[in-house]
Amino acid sequence: MITIISVIYFIYVLVKIYISVMEIGFVSRAKNEKAVILSDQNYKKAAEYKIKSERLSILTSLADYAIFLFWIGFGLRYLESIIPIEDMALKSVVFVLLFIAINFLFSLGFDIYKTFVLDKKFGFSNMDTKLFLHDLLKSSILFIIFGSLVTWIVSKIILSFDTWWIYGFIFVFLVILVINVIYPTLIAPIFNKFKVLDNDELKEAIEKLFNQVGLKSSGVFTIDASKRDNRLNAYFGGLGKTKRVVLFDTLVQKLTKSELLAVLGHELGHFKHKDILKSIATMSFMLFIMFYIFGNLPTSLFEAVGVSNEPYMIIAFFMIFSPILSFFMMPLFGLISRANEYNADEFGAKCESKEALISALKKLANENKSFPLSHPLNIFFYHTHPPLAQRLKRLQE
Ligand SMILES: [Zn+2]
Repeated sequence: MITIISVIYFIYVLVKIYISVMEIGFVSRAKNEKAVILSDQNYKKAAEYKIKSERLSILTSLADYAIFLFWIGFGLRYLESIIPIEDMALKSVVFVLLFIAINFLFSLGFDIYKTFVLDKKFGFSNMDTKLFLHDLLKSSILFIIFGSLVTWIVSKIILSFDTWWIYGFIFVFLVILVINVIYPTLIAPIFNKFKVLDNDELKEAIEKLFNQVGLKSSGVFTIDASKRDNRLNAYFGGLGKTKRVVLFDTLVQKLTKSELLAVLGHELGHFKHKDILKSIATMSFMLFIMFYIFGNLPTSLFEAVGVSNEPYMIIAFFMIFSPILSFFMMPLFGLISRANEYNADEFGAKCESKEALISALKKLANENKSFPLSHPLNIFFYHTHPPLAQRLKRLQE
């Protein structure tokens, strides 16, 4: 059993490394050809950044495998033996929090390298130690509160029902809905200052745009994203009354009014097409399959690892193995998401103009040094957005 799961995990790691190697080869070749979409200098820089990032992700995959072997080899057994708590649900909370904290410590080095070395070198990161520690503290507190609560309830469900995976799924699904509802108004503001857009001319134009597409204009905000990173972005989030469009301050500074309206039009396209609901539905479907699998783990798995078949161990197995399942299910999600992006682009182009959206996307790619081409395998497995070259081509048709 141990051999089987180790081989499965190893294959997963190999597939990921293979995709990265193919991407590095693809980008290295494309780098030496004539620059497309980006300026010559940015094109080269974007390629270098992409290659360095892929190398880092190869290292991360190898580290993941080492961590996996650590847990399966003796980590899980050891952690189980040192928590002297009788109450099973409480023991679950302590076990799961420790399990996640240890995983986090293992990956911390990679995070620090990416933020403080790689992203600094390419001029993206504005992060300083103080902000990094503040972020870490805030997310740890959030995580301890919500993580404990969710673990406690899931453990109770596992202890109470034979077909716990159905009820567990329903509970986690509800948690995801609640997080989506409260994220923009309650969670995101913990990390960033939200300001109502204060440019009157732009505000008026945006209100006109909202009316034109038949959406309420209560929610366009800017955030101080530049305190962490120079890259430009915008996102839409929330459900029901908490729906809002969020523009990074970096985006407002660098784009013209017309370009901004086109980007906003793209985001409104997502609202109009109910893309948040669609992506929650797809995610839930994947989650349902996972719960079914983890609700029916063979006893021999627990025996082979030498641990007991208790709620915390099921949750730990879930966290160890679910990345493999989601990796192989992601292509379905990516396919749907990329189609949504094309539709949102079309909507954005109609709201403002094709030219404005094209020029905004080009500016975004230049500022963010995002390489406009990608290997088909990489697109298939990872991309939620089509590569820029394909988006522009579709827009120009
Ligand atoms: Zn989009």
